[in-house]
Amino acid sequence: MRIGSTGIAPGGQPTRVGLLDGLLGLLSHDVGIDLGTANTLVAVRNRGIVISEPSVVALDSRTKRVLAIGAEAKRMEGRTPADITVIRPLRDGVISDFDVTEQMLRYFIRQVHDRYAQVSRPRVIVGIPSGVTEVEKRAVRDATINAGARWARLIEEPMAAAIGAGLPVMEPSGSLVVDIGGGTTEVAVISLGGIVVSRSIRIGGDEMDSDVVAFARRQYNLLMGERTAEEIKISTGSAYPGERGDRTVTFRGRDLLTGLPRSVEVGGDQLREALEPSLAQIMDAVTETIEETPPELVADLMDQGLVLAGGGALLPGLDRRIAEVTQMPVHVADDPLTCVVRGATHVLEELDALGRVLVSEQLTRPPR
Ligand code: ADP
Ligand code: MG
Repeated sequence: MRIGSTGIAPGGQPTRVGLLDGLLGLLSHDVGIDLGTANTLVAVRNRGIVISEPSVVALDSRTKRVLAIGAEAKRMEGRTPADITVIRPLRDGVISDFDVTEQMLRYFIRQVHDRYAQVSRPRVIVGIPSGVTEVEKRAVRDATINAGARWARLIEEPMAAAIGAGLPVMEPSGSLVVDIGGGTTEVAVISLGGIVVSRSIRIGGDEMDSDVVAFARRQYNLLMGERTAEEIKISTGSAYPGERGDRTVTFRGRDLLTGLPRSVEVGGDQLREALEPSLAQIMDAVTETIEETPPELVADLMDQGLVLAGGGALLPGLDRRIAEVTQMPVHVADDPLTCVVRGATHVLEELDALGRVLVSEQLTRPPR
C-alpha cells in the first residue's frame, strides 16, 4: 500500500501551478535540499525537484581539484586511473571530508541559481543524516549561507522523510519512519513534532551491494565491482520469497582462480540469501526501536503501522518482510527517494506550523 504525500508531487511537478502560486514562488525563493549519503536532491518551492544527483565528487588525486560532481563523478567510480580519486563525502552518514562536501553543496546551489536566476538569496532547509555531529551541522549551515542562502536551517532526515511521506508529525500520536538510504538506515518514532526514539545504523543500500560482492567471491570465486552489484540488486534483488518470481540474474566479474572474465547464472533466492546480512541488521534496528518506544506510542504504531522511505524501500518484498517481523502494517511511501527533499520544502511552506521540527538554532551558532 502506498500513502499520499504533501507539497510537491512525485516526479517533481508542483501540485498546483496557478499564476498566483507562481508569483509567490518567485518572491519566496525557498529551496529544500536532501544532502543524502548516496544522492543529493534540490527542490525549489512551486517548481518541484530541480536537481537529483549522486553525492559523489571526483578529484585530482594530487592537487585535490574537483574534476566532476554528481552523475558524471559516479560514472567514474571504480574506473579511475591513479591520478583521479572518486569520493562520497557523506558515505557513512558523517561528513568524512568537509571541504569536498562544501564544494558539492555550493555547486548544487549555484546550479539552481544559474538555472533559475530569480532564485537568488533563497531561504534553504537542508536535510542531513542524524549521525552528523554538531560541529558538522554548523559547518553545513555555514556552507549553505556561504553559497548564497539568505537564511538556512537544518532538519534531520528521518523527520523530513516523515513529513515528505505525509505522516502527521505534529499530532500527539506515534509515527514510525524507516529511511533506508545508501550509507545509513535511520529509524525514528515521531510525536508532537519531535523525535521520541531513534536509531541510526551505518547499514543501507551500500552494504547490500557489498553483501552481493562478498557473496560472489565466497560462492563463486568471482570478483565483482560495487557498481555491478548495485545494478544487480536493483534489477533482481528482493527481500521476500517469491518476489519478482525469483528470476535468475547473470553475475559478471573476474574469476579469482584463472584471472579471466567469467559469468555465472544466479537464482533470485540465492541473491536474497546474499542480501540477508544487511537485511537482518535493518530488521534489528527496527525491532530495537520499537522495544524502546513508550507503550502509548506503540499502541498508535500498531494501528497506523510504519512507513518505509529512502531508496532501500524500493527493494521488492522489504515491506512484507518488515511486516512479518514486527507484526505491524507497513507502507512504502510514495516516491521514497524524494521524501526527504519534499519534506524539507514542505516545512518552508508552513514554517509557522512546522518550524519546531527543525534542528534548533543554538546548534548552529559557534560555542561561546
Ligand atoms: P541517501 O538518502 O543515503 O542518499 P537514497 O535514499 O537516495 O540514499 O537511496 C540510495 C540507495 O537506494 C542506494 O543504495 C541504491 O542502490 C538504493 N536503491 C535505489 N533504487 C533501488 C531499488 N529499486 N531497489 C533497491 N535499492 C534501491
Ligand atoms: Mg536519505
